[in-house]
Amino acid sequence: MFYIKEQRNIIGMLFPDADKYNQMLESIGNFAEKEILPDAKKVDHEGIFPDFKELVKHGVMAIPFPEEYNGSGLPYPVYIAALEMLAKACANTALQVSVQGMVCEGIRLFGNERQRKEFLKERGLVGGRGLAAYALTEPCCGSDARSIKTNARLSGDTYILNGYKILITNPGEADIILVFANTDKGLSSFIVERGTPGFEITRNMPKLGLRGLGLSGIRIKDCRIARENLLGEDGEGFEYAKQMLNIGRMTLAALAVGIAQAAYEKSLMYSKERKAFGNNISSFQLIQEKLANMATEINAARLLTYYTAHLKDKGKDIASEAAQAKLFASEMALRVCDDAIQIYGGYGYIDERDIHRHWRDARFLTIGEGTSEILRGLIAHISLRQT
Ligand SMILES: Cc1cc2nc3c(=O)[nH]c(=O)nc-3n(C[C@H](O)[C@H](O)[C@H](O)COP(=O)(O)OP(=O)(O)OC[C@H]3O[C@@H](n4cnc5c(N)ncnc54)[C@H](O)[C@@H]3O)c2cc1C
Repeated sequence: MFYIKEQRNIIGMLFPDADKYNQMLESIGNFAEKEILPDAKKVDHEGIFPDFKELVKHGVMAIPFPEEYNGSGLPYPVYIAALEMLAKACANTALQVSVQGMVCEGIRLFGNERQRKEFLKERGLVGGRGLAAYALTEPCCGSDARSIKTNARLSGDTYILNGYKILITNPGEADIILVFANTDKGLSSFIVERGTPGFEITRNMPKLGLRGLGLSGIRIKDCRIARENLLGEDGEGFEYAKQMLNIGRMTLAALAVGIAQAAYEKSLMYSKERKAFGNNISSFQLIQEKLANMATEINAARLLTYYTAHLKDKGKDIASEAAQAKLFASEMALRVCDDAIQIYGGYGYIDERDIHRHWRDARFLTIGEGTSEILRGLIAHISLRQT
């Protein structure tokens, strides 16, 4: 059973009419277990881009978005539960859904009605028929996003973009890339379509984990973008990026919980099978300590993540909670996945048992969309401002 009782309990706690969500989540869980999980090891080993066709049919990407844009209009905690299960099966698949959700929410919040209709609905970003990428980071600056150098000069009804992006997830597969650049009014964001002249995806960068997704640079040279594809207001891009990152951080926390849950469940089973000194290793207290810590920390991270999603549904500012959820869940996932390798002993270190994939995938989560250092600074800053 992929939709576990801990998830069901939280959904039950949040919604008196939880049955309708439980049914849907069970079906997504079965799909993740039967259709996504069997390919996850291959996706990682061979660096294969996951197939999103079936996922699109199950409507996972559309869960939290309004029906008028072909979304399902369901609460964020339901989306988080679905993402958690996807990540438990295959973190590559879940990360693309997370990036997609972040871009869609940006267009929903800040785009005008034409942009929402065209990109979210007609171009299929909400459902996942069209794929999205988010391009903020540059060789000069990741954490220090205000200092990016890509610029956009307005000439008549066209912006002309020049610059270079790096470490961008999947721009080669994406139909729409949200690109951040500086105009004379400040940081702004632009909706760029695949194949726009002057927009060139450069080398794919091999990496530690998440190997099914491309990670590329983008060379932007005299790339002409119609003024109507400026997202929202000129000069407001930094605020937009921050708000999108709140969603990104909350969904990355869900990924962390799902990845850790996968490593934990494997560890439980292995500890009951593996014998040493005439006993199952699960009988040793030092192994039990690890299992107990894993279960407790995963549940703590899960609660923080669903709580953040609940606040998002209620229209609250989630800047601090999203940062806390990602900070805690990502560091938790690293501890849990490291303990899983330890419980597997030497077999945790080799490819065959597919254990170290979880640690390698989790390693990204303390870096992307705000490093742990940046998030600690942000959480403290918000708390200090409020006192
Ligand atoms: C797999 C992967 C996928 C990614 N996908 C995307 C994507 O789709 N789109 C995108 O735009 N970017 C993406 N990124 C980039 C990612 O967001 C950045 O790597 C991240 O924001 C950190 O930036 P940086 O690498 O430039 O590190 P830096 O900002 O150079 O930081 C280096 C170190 O210094 C620390 N540091 C920096 N400033 C401070 C400070 N004020 N106080 C304390 N410590 C500090 C950092 O925490 C870090 O430990 C991706 C990265 C990876 C690895």
